[in-house]
Amino acid sequence: MDSASLPDQPPSLKQPESRPALRVTELASGLLLLLDEHGITGRLPLDARAQASRLRHAVKLTVQATTGTAARPPTPPSATAGELLQAWIAAQPWAQPDPGPVGWAYLLCFRDPATGEHRPLRGNGCRGQFAGHYWGWTDDLVRRINREHRNPNWTGPGRLVQVALAAGLTFELAYVEYPATRSRERRLKNQGGAYRRCPLCRGTGSPLDPVQVAAAVSRLPVARLED
Ligand SMILES: [Zn+2]
Repeated sequence: MDSASLPDQPPSLKQPESRPALRVTELASGLLLLLDEHGITGRLPLDARAQASRLRHAVKLTVQATTGTAARPPTPPSATAGELLQAWIAAQPWAQPDPGPVGWAYLLCFRDPATGEHRPLRGNGCRGQFAGHYWGWTDDLVRRINREHRNPNWTGPGRLVQVALAAGLTFELAYVEYPATRSRERRLKNQGGAYRRCPLCRGTGSPLDPVQVAAAVSRLPVARLED
């Protein structure tokens, strides 16, 4: 699966925005904020979640294209409501310039192999290491999950997962966002509360198969949303 074949920044976004386009951006970003705020994003079916991720990415590109990323002039006092909202959107963490490649942000949920129930990793050290979930980012979901995390002898990134496997735990792929940058993954991680975001722990979703997820996302109509 070559996720890099999906276009991520169509040239049309670099053109000056029209008023209707700005309105759509405002409404879309408002909807995304509400979905996040109410914790709904993680409970959406996979295809809807992937489209929400695409919409988030498209909104961000539009905001960056219309406000500029380096020097943003202060909002004049006579700004319209639309301009105020646009400035507010541009100041949101998720709308900040997000350099770097686009790939998958994903959440692993550690499980008990016998019961299938959620079971956190409990370390033995004096620091009391405790991890129920693992956030990661990759440009190749299938390789990372199936050939790296599932491999008990893997020595690359994601050491915590191997520690969990060695402790007798297993894991499921619980949540994905695509397209997502490494910065998006860091923000998800820093928000904390992986348990609250995990569809398996909330009982709102089933384990994801990386092969099916990658195949489903590659079939989504990409251009239509980002045109
Ligand atoms: Zn979980």
